[in-house]
Amino acid sequence: MSNSPQVAAYSSAEDIGHFIQGRKQAARSGRSQAVYNPATGQVARQVQLASADDVQAAVASAVAAFPAWADAPPLRRARVMFKFLELLQAHKDELAAMITAEHGKVFTDALGEVARGIDIVEFACGAPQLLKGDYTEQVSAGMDNWTLRQPLGVVAGITPFNFPFMVPMWMAPLAIVTGNTFILKPSERDPSPSLLVAELLKQAGLPDGVFNVLQGDKLAVEGLLHHPDVKALSFVGSTPIAQSIYQTGAAMGKRVQALGGAKNHMVVMPDAHIEQTIDALVGAAYGSAGERCMAISVAVLVGDVAEHIMPKLAERVRALKIKNGMALDAEMGPIVTREALERIEGYIGLGVEEGAQLVVDGRGHVVAGHEQGFFTGGSLFDHVRPEMRIYQEEIFGPVLACVRVPDFATAVQLVNDHAYGNGVACYTSDGHIAREFVRRVQVGMVGINVPIPVPMAWHGFGGWKKSLFGDLHAYGEEGVRFYTKQKSVMQRWPESVSKGAEFVMPTSQ
Ligand code: NAD
Repeated sequence: MSNSPQVAAYSSAEDIGHFIQGRKQAARSGRSQAVYNPATGQVARQVQLASADDVQAAVASAVAAFPAWADAPPLRRARVMFKFLELLQAHKDELAAMITAEHGKVFTDALGEVARGIDIVEFACGAPQLLKGDYTEQVSAGMDNWTLRQPLGVVAGITPFNFPFMVPMWMAPLAIVTGNTFILKPSERDPSPSLLVAELLKQAGLPDGVFNVLQGDKLAVEGLLHHPDVKALSFVGSTPIAQSIYQTGAAMGKRVQALGGAKNHMVVMPDAHIEQTIDALVGAAYGSAGERCMAISVAVLVGDVAEHIMPKLAERVRALKIKNGMALDAEMGPIVTREALERIEGYIGLGVEEGAQLVVDGRGHVVAGHEQGFFTGGSLFDHVRPEMRIYQEEIFGPVLACVRVPDFATAVQLVNDHAYGNGVACYTSDGHIAREFVRRVQVGMVGINVPIPVPMAWHGFGGWKKSLFGDLHAYGEEGVRFYTKQKSVMQRWPESVSKGAEFVMPTSQ
């Protein structure tokens, strides 16, 4: 955390609108939706929701800005990113407080989110290097061949509530430095950080119209999805919507990457370091109240390791410090909305009905002074079986399901048979087991004694199976490829053309 021991909570009653053509604009629709402070359960402000006209205005702004921005040298674009990076560093507490106020996650965790978003801005500062092409001299007599990458045009990003700063940063910085213009459609649950990002990009010198924010719901997403001038869409959210956006976008001829939901397993081998494993499970299952796409929601306990893990794990779950996220010693904050809270507690009831053993029941947790807040405690199930819905479905809350299996092969099979494949971890002291796990597991992001293996900015983020629809992962070099198209050029000059008309396939002879 930065120098201040206590940061002021974010507070504003102002309506949240769009940011189009370099300025804040009110929605033309007259529709709006409440934004809550989940810790108090009170409506804090309203977010305006886009109409079809607003979608047109945002796209028109991005279309108009594209030619000049695409022509700007990559170094000039990168310099805007360097300035943006400085401004983000200066505003990180404010951004984190905004996130806590609307999402509910604890302030220290929100600062972590801001830091991981900033990592990608740093990566994007390398635009000139990232856009370097390939060149082969003399592919034939007097002829050279090279490839270059050019921007797509207007691209859009649709983001989930659980990382209102970091996930937009998976998209916008790379889209912009590679020469595209961008429209962000943030989650309507926690929309405020999007406007601060827009203001900071403008202060950094980004020309008007290169980055636009469109607040809204399904209507805004549908408008972007069907607009012929939107060339590509990056989506992060739940699997049914990811799949449908991928299908429709692809049918419309757009490039789409759509990251979906998850059910991340941690396989615990009998030789794992017990104390470290329990620390990892508590942090990864209950941090951010389990509202992370990389949260661990299933522990696969191999052999007799459950006997060593379960008693201490239950003790730690009961002792979680659950508070308003602005309290600096809070370990877990509230759930984002009352609806989500009810869904999560509904799953706990379902698990009991399905016959799992509820070791810790977090339902109905009340935080003194925050009686109306959307709080639940940590919940822990043992003896969960693969046919149960609490095993198969994404709960997206502070609920850990423990499955007991006899051996390593059964553990790997269990992970591989699951519909989701976002992240996975294996806790072990055996190098051979670790190596086999990495090779055999059918999941996109793997941690060995690392519970939440979110790749660094230059490695790219993406799951397998129902956790990602599309070919390319978010950010890293895959992100650069997603936001650019390759052009291949072959060139020769009159001095080297001597053969006359050629009627056979040209070769290098
Ligand atoms: P969500 O799918 O409800 O919403 C995501 C975005 O889609 C939001 O901007 C929302 O406004 C929009 N949207 C909602 N309903 C829509 C509809 N019917 N048609 C078109 N657009 C619609 O997801 P959420 O609840 O905001 O976020 C949580 C989900 O996101 C979880 O499933 C989580 O696993 C997933 N997630 C995945 C990753 C990843 O990298 N794979 C990262 C973060 C979150």
